[in-house]
Amino acid sequence: MSESTNMQTTNIKYNLGNGVWVEIEAENPADAVRQLSQWQDALGERECGKCGSKDIRFSQFETREGKEMFVMNCHAKGCRASITLAQVREGGRLFLSRKNRDGQELPQRGWTVYNPNGSR
Ligand SMILES: [Zn+2]
Repeated sequence: MSESTNMQTTNIKYNLGNGVWVEIEAENPADAVRQLSQWQDALGERECGKCGSKDIRFSQFETREGKEMFVMNCHAKGCRASITLAQVREGGRLFLSRKNRDGQELPQRGWTVYNPNGSR
């Protein structure tokens, strides 16, 4: 982002397909893709990966240790699946967490049902 230059920018309104609109100011197409991909990675989920419901909602809370957490919860009856929005330490960028610690794709596109008695 180069605020000091007088470069011409273009305003782009983009529909993430799930009711969320984003509006960005891009210097060129590459810049637009860079910005839009970040919004899509964080807010672009359209349906629950477990049951396919579109009744999914953002949620934010703090852990006992004071760490801020971001998730999406499925509100379909009896589903209770959720997906974590992981946060990159540097820059604070959010993205839907679809891989495990080893970098392997999680089943159901990362949507899991929390099981307090078992492993994840
Ligand atoms: Zn669901």
